[in-house]
Amino acid sequence: METTGQAKTGAAQSSRLANWSLFLGLFGFVFSFVFIGVPFAIAAIFSGHVARTRIKHAAGTLTGKGKALVGLIGGYSGVSVLGLMLAISSAADKMQEAVNGNACIANLRQIDTAKKLWAQASKKAIGDTPTFRDLKPYLPQESKCPKGGQYKINAIGPAPECSIPGHKLSFRDPSPISQTNAGTNLPDRPRP
Ligand SMILES: [Zn+2]
Repeated sequence: METTGQAKTGAAQSSRLANWSLFLGLFGFVFSFVFIGVPFAIAAIFSGHVARTRIKHAAGTLTGKGKALVGLIGGYSGVSVLGLMLAISSAADKMQEAVNGNACIANLRQIDTAKKLWAQASKKAIGDTPTFRDLKPYLPQESKCPKGGQYKINAIGPAPECSIPGHKLSFRDPSPISQTNAGTNLPDRPRP
């Protein structure tokens, strides 16, 4: 802590707290890029402010205002770098999420198309439910949700679904079968 006894001798003493702020600020700034610098940056801000207040009230017996300022700059920069990195990483997460969601919706669309093809090829009707084995010949590749969601094929009619919220097929041909063949090879419920 600060020594106030120096006032008696008349020589101004360098504020130790200012030295600490300088050290912590630089350390905190440099290491904020690897996340461990943040406590140091915060400590630098705190000690920098306290040191500058003490120097101000010491009436010339304490020096180190400049060092404390450098410490403060380092500390605030360190915290800003962390904030920036958090913002970037959150934006990257959101982008990844959107990419995953789009890939899943593309899968759902393929399953939806495969259902129509299966219904036409096997003379199935609205309400009949295919399995993945049934749809395999009509799917370009194995359909897997990139986020690990479970697919529900559903019957001919309703859209296939993913268990992950937001992975939803929104734009869809309202007819479960193609318009040209509607009514010809897909009678509604042909079996009892
Ligand atoms: Zn999904």
